[in-house]
Formats: sequence, structure tokens, C-alpha cells
Amino acid sequence: MAVSESQVDELVPRQELKTLSPGKTKRTTFGIGLIKGLGITLRHMLTPAVTVQYPDESAPLPPRSRGIIALKEENCTVCMLCARECPDWCIYIEGHKEARESVGGKRAKKFNVLDRFAIDYALCMYCGICVEVCPYDALFWGQLDNYSEHDVTQLTHEMEQLNQWMYQVPPPEELEIGAMGPAVKPAAGPPAAGVEKEGA
Ligand code: SF4
Ligand code: SF4
Repeated sequence: MAVSESQVDELVPRQELKTLSPGKTKRTTFGIGLIKGLGITLRHMLTPAVTVQYPDESAPLPPRSRGIIALKEENCTVCMLCARECPDWCIYIEGHKEARESVGGKRAKKFNVLDRFAIDYALCMYCGICVEVCPYDALFWGQLDNYSEHDVTQLTHEMEQLNQWMYQVPPPEELEIGAMGPAVKPAAGPPAAGVEKEGA
């Protein structure tokens, strides 16, 4: 029975056919692979390591790394925007309203007072939406990469702890050249009394 080329391909891989062909076998010197391997090992031994022995050592984090979310408590107005926008629903906020006397004997105004602010890092996916949407600059990314716990419930960080993470927040980066835009001239004020316009 005649066998077509495609059937031969299925039965015997091309690579095997090549090695089976007379005159196509490759001669190798004994031990050359070992010498090559030792050469690679030696090269890597003499090259400085780019890795660190984590967790005993810690590599410096890039300035924009998303390590931990820090809360500047005094900036928070309990607007709930971050909790509403969080896709994982892992921000827990509680607050109450408090009336405070206004200056000059005017009617007392009501303010929101923050009672609880917590983030469950077991659920957080570090998307950064909460930091982006906060209209009062109360949330920041801090540089911390090791706050693992043996107990998952300990990964819910309460307000006091989130406040402490403010020490991990790096100073803001310098603005790029041209980021400020051209200088804006201050608007001209009304003419001083007694100064008449030219031609009046
Ligand atoms: S968005 Fe900002 S101000 Fe509003 S509750 Fe969240 S942290 Fe507080
Ligand atoms: S980083 Fe994303 S997932 Fe984590 S608390 Fe903020 S909004 Fe939620």
C-alpha cells in the first residue's frame, strides 16, 4: 500500500526523519555541554545579584508603588464617596452629625464626624480608585510592602492604624517641566478713587 507524505509526517516526526537520514547526524564532542554549563555558572557568579533575600531584606519601592492606603483623618468629611466607589466594598465608614456653634451667634451648623474608617486588606485589590476619587485629599498611597498576618481578620486596619501609615507616604514628586503651564497675569483691579480714565 502506497503511503502519502502527509501520512509519513503523522507517523514519524520530521526531526526524527532528519536524524535517520544518512549523513545528517551531528557529531558532538564529549563534555562540551558540561563546559558550557560551567561557563554560564561562572558568569552568573561574577555578576552582581539583582534579587534580594526577601523578607530578610527589602528592595526600595518605586515612588508610585501601591503599598498601603493611609488616611489623613482630619481631611475626611465622611462623604462616603470612597466607600461607594470601592469595587470590593472593603471600606467601612461610620460617622454621625454634630451641631457646632457658629462665630457671631449665628445658627449652629451641622458637621459630619468620623467614628470609624477601616479597610479590609484581605479584600482590597489595590486598584487605587478610593485614593483617586477622594475629593478632600484624605487618602494616600504609602510605601509598605510587608504587613502580612497569620490571621486574616487582622488584615482589617482601623482608623488609628490607617492614620499611622501616613508616615509611610513619600513626599510628592517634583512637577515635570512645563506642568505648571505659562504664568497667569493677575486680573486688573478697579481703578483707584480719584484716578480718571485716559480720554474721559
Ligand atoms: S472620599 Fe475622602 S473625604 Fe470622603 S469619606 Fe472617603 S476618605 Fe473621607
Ligand atoms: S484600592 Fe480599590 S479595592 Fe482597595 S480599598 Fe481602594 S477602592 Fe477598594
